[in-house]
Amino acid sequence: MSDLPDDFNCTITNWEYIYGLCRTVSDQVKRAEFEPDVVVALARGGWFAGRCTCDFLGLDDLTSLKMEHYVGAAEKSDEPTVRYPMPEGSVEGKDVLIIDDIADTGGSIRRAQEYVEERNAGEVRTATLQLLRTSEFDPDFVGERLEEWAWIVYPWNFIEDMIDLIAGVMERADEETFDRESVRHYLAEYHSVDRIEMEIAQPDRLTEVLAEMERREVIESRGPDQWALAE
Ligand code: AMP
Repeated sequence: MSDLPDDFNCTITNWEYIYGLCRTVSDQVKRAEFEPDVVVALARGGWFAGRCTCDFLGLDDLTSLKMEHYVGAAEKSDEPTVRYPMPEGSVEGKDVLIIDDIADTGGSIRRAQEYVEERNAGEVRTATLQLLRTSEFDPDFVGERLEEWAWIVYPWNFIEDMIDLIAGVMERADEETFDRESVRHYLAEYHSVDRIEMEIAQPDRLTEVLAEMERREVIESRGPDQWALAE
């Protein structure tokens, strides 16, 4: 998220919604009569999808591949790379379904497919829960195509993303201290995070996120319902 522009829209999701997308992808796999032997879930965003897909499809072979876009501090490589090599025997001779949460450039899932194919897998197909129009790669199975680019806040990294977003708006807004109301105000202003939408997707989480930001020393308390970025 670190290399995004100041203003970008965010969509906050919840477990039920994302679980529905896992079911949609799995239904597509069934309809296509593709019967993978193993699911390769891309770390870290594809793990929940990989596990749920195994459940929907009745598979017990689930493995992982960690893709990285980042080569150094805030430096984005064009070509995603595989972080750790796959253990021998993970995919050789097997039909593989590779799954990730979202394709943005599409580079991660495309590179993952090449990597798996280089390991003499059988048939290899790809899936993402969501697909942005920016993607240059078209996965075989897609839970949902998004018309507008947005940063999707997934439930498995809700705290991580909200900390980044809130720290970002605090840095940008011309104020010394923030209460809960002003945090909500700037999330709406800079990222179109609507208060009601956020409460529906992730009810009562703002206080928890602020407490966690304090624990991680990203912000510091300046009195009741008052915080400032930590020095
Ligand atoms: P990419 O290789 O550009 O298709 O993006 C790879 C990974 O970056 C995805 O698996 C996500 O974990 C993360 N990512 C990229 N864009 C977004 C987005 N708009 N919202 C949430 N996560 C994203």
